[in-house]
Amino acid sequence: MTKITLTTKEFDQLPKQCVKIVLTEDKPDWHRLVETKDGRLEYRMGAGKRKDMTVRKYRTLVRSIVMAAKSHKLTHIALQLGPMGCPKLEEKGSKWYYRTLAEQLQLATYEFTTYKSKKSDYALKEIMICGIKKAADKQAFKTGLITGEAVNYTRDVANTSGEDMAPSQLAEAAKKAVSGTKAKVKVLDHKKIKQLKMGLLDAVGKGAKDKPRLIIIEYFGAAKKSAPVALIGKGITYDSGGLNVKPTGAMHDMHMDMSGGAAVIGTMRAIAKLGLKKNVVALIPAAENSISADCMRAGDIATSMSGQTVEILHTDAEGRLVLADAMTYAEKYYQPKAMIDVATLTGASLVALGQKTSAVLTKSKSLQDKLVEIGEDTGDLMWPLPLWDEYKSSLKSTRADIANIAVNFARWGGCIEGGTFLSFFAPKKTPWAHIDMAPRMESAAGDKLVKGATGEPVKTLLRYIETS
Ligand SMILES: [Zn+2]
Repeated sequence: MTKITLTTKEFDQLPKQCVKIVLTEDKPDWHRLVETKDGRLEYRMGAGKRKDMTVRKYRTLVRSIVMAAKSHKLTHIALQLGPMGCPKLEEKGSKWYYRTLAEQLQLATYEFTTYKSKKSDYALKEIMICGIKKAADKQAFKTGLITGEAVNYTRDVANTSGEDMAPSQLAEAAKKAVSGTKAKVKVLDHKKIKQLKMGLLDAVGKGAKDKPRLIIIEYFGAAKKSAPVALIGKGITYDSGGLNVKPTGAMHDMHMDMSGGAAVIGTMRAIAKLGLKKNVVALIPAAENSISADCMRAGDIATSMSGQTVEILHTDAEGRLVLADAMTYAEKYYQPKAMIDVATLTGASLVALGQKTSAVLTKSKSLQDKLVEIGEDTGDLMWPLPLWDEYKSSLKSTRADIANIAVNFARWGGCIEGGTFLSFFAPKKTPWAHIDMAPRMESAAGDKLVKGATGEPVKTLLRYIETS
C-alpha cells in the first residue's frame, strides 16, 4: 500500500529520499532521472504542451507518473501539480482537479498480489503532494482518495478467483465494504429467493454448490421518505456458460463476471464513507453459472418474479436473467426514483465498442446525457447504443413469453439484445439505464493501469449519486 499524503512543506524541505517529479513540455514519452546540485534526485517527464492538455490526457498523465516511479523503483516521490497553466484544466476548477489527482494516484498505485507466493521487496512507499493550500481543495483531494480506495476495493473483489468469491463470499465482501458505516446489508438466501418466486435467479444459480443470493445494501443518508436511487449489479461469481459451455480462451477470466456487482458494492462503500446525504439501495443478484445435474438446461422455461415466462434458449445469456428479477424486486420493494444496472453482460459490447468505453442503453435522453457527461468527467467512459422497441420482436418466444436470446440465434447487435431483454422488466415510469461494462471489465493497452479489473464504473456511479 502506497501512502498518499498532503504536505505543507516545500520540496527542498522534504526528506532527501524523496524524488521530485518535474513535468516538462516535452513529448509525453520523454523522461530523465537527474541529480541536482544539492544531491537530490529529480525525475523529469514530458507532459506535452500546456495548451494541449486535456481532461483525458491529465488522467493518463497522473497514472503515468506513478507507473514511471514504479518502473524506476522509486520508493518516495513528491509532486506539485497545480493546474500548471493548462487552460482546459483551469476551466474545470481546482476541486475537480485535485479530486481527480487523488483518484488517479490511487488507481495507479494498485497492485493485486493475493495469489503471489513471493512478495516483491520493492514498494512505492509514499507519494507526497505539495502545494495544496485551500481547505476546499484539500477536502476535494480527500474525497478523491476515498473514491480511489473504493475503486481499488472493487478491483480486489473482481480479481479474486471464482472459488474464493462464490455468492456467499460476495455477500461477505459486501458486508465488509460498508462495515462501520450506516449502510445496512441484507442477504436473501436460496429459500427466500424461491419463496419470492424469483424464478430466473433460481434457474441460473441452482446448479452450483454455493446457492444464489440476493445481496441488498441500503443506505439512507437523506430523509426516509425521499425515494432512493437503485443500483443493480450483475453478480455472476463464475460463468462457465452453463450447458452451453464457453470455449477455451473465453472462460478463464469469468471470475470477473461479477464486476458489475463489485462496482455497485464499491460505490456503496464510497457513498457510505463519504456520508452522502442521499438515499441509495444496491441490489446484487449473485449466482454461479455452473454445470451439474441440477443446473438449468437450454430450452427450460422459467417464470420471473414479474410473472413473465422466459424460454432459456442459451444458458450463457444468464446475466440478464438474474438482473431481471433484481429489477422487479427493486421496483416492488423500493419504488426508486431512478434505476441503473451495471453488468458485464455481453461480449458483443466489445465487438461494437472495443475496450475503451462501456455501453449505455436507456430510453431516458436526460439520463443518457448525464451518464455520458459524468463519464467524460471521471474517466469511466460511456457511449450510447439504441434501446428501441423495434428490437423486441427478435425475442418473441414460441413456447413462453420471451426468449433470453434472439429466437433465430442471430448474433447481430448482441449488446442491444441484452438491453432489450432487460427492458421487458424495467419499471414503467422510473427512468432506467443499463450499462454494459464488459468492454471495461479488464484494463486495456494504453490505460496505464496494471492488468486485471478496472473497478469501473464506480467513479461515474458515485458522481451520479452525488448530483442526483
Ligand atoms: Zn454468460
